[in-house]
Amino acid sequence: MAIISCPSCNDNISSKAKTCSNCNFDLINNRSVSGLTDEQIASKNTLARIKRKYSLQMQATGSLVVFLLGVLLWYVGGREVNNIMDALKVGMIAVGSAWYLLTRVRLVAFKRQ
Ligand SMILES: [Zn+2]
Repeated sequence: MAIISCPSCNDNISSKAKTCSNCNFDLINNRSVSGLTDEQIASKNTLARIKRKYSLQMQATGSLVVFLLGVLLWYVGGREVNNIMDALKVGMIAVGSAWYLLTRVRLVAFKRQ
């Protein structure tokens, strides 16, 4: 009996074991408990990454639009804060810029993964 490492979790397991004692990876059919092969899991992860990146890029664009719209309204409609609409413009600028910066930070963190 030899000791091998599980292809799924890298735990040390017996070469005669049918499933990994740590993660239940099916060593006979080389499938995980979810019934997916390594390639399927890899493509699923790639797809999840693409979706996440797309979502973050959409958020970056959306927050920039909120910010720029706030700036535009503030610029066109006078820069004094007199009523609820003026407060809303300032709010858009504040929220848009904060949201944009946060999304940029999350995108950088995401790309480093
Ligand atoms: Zn395992």
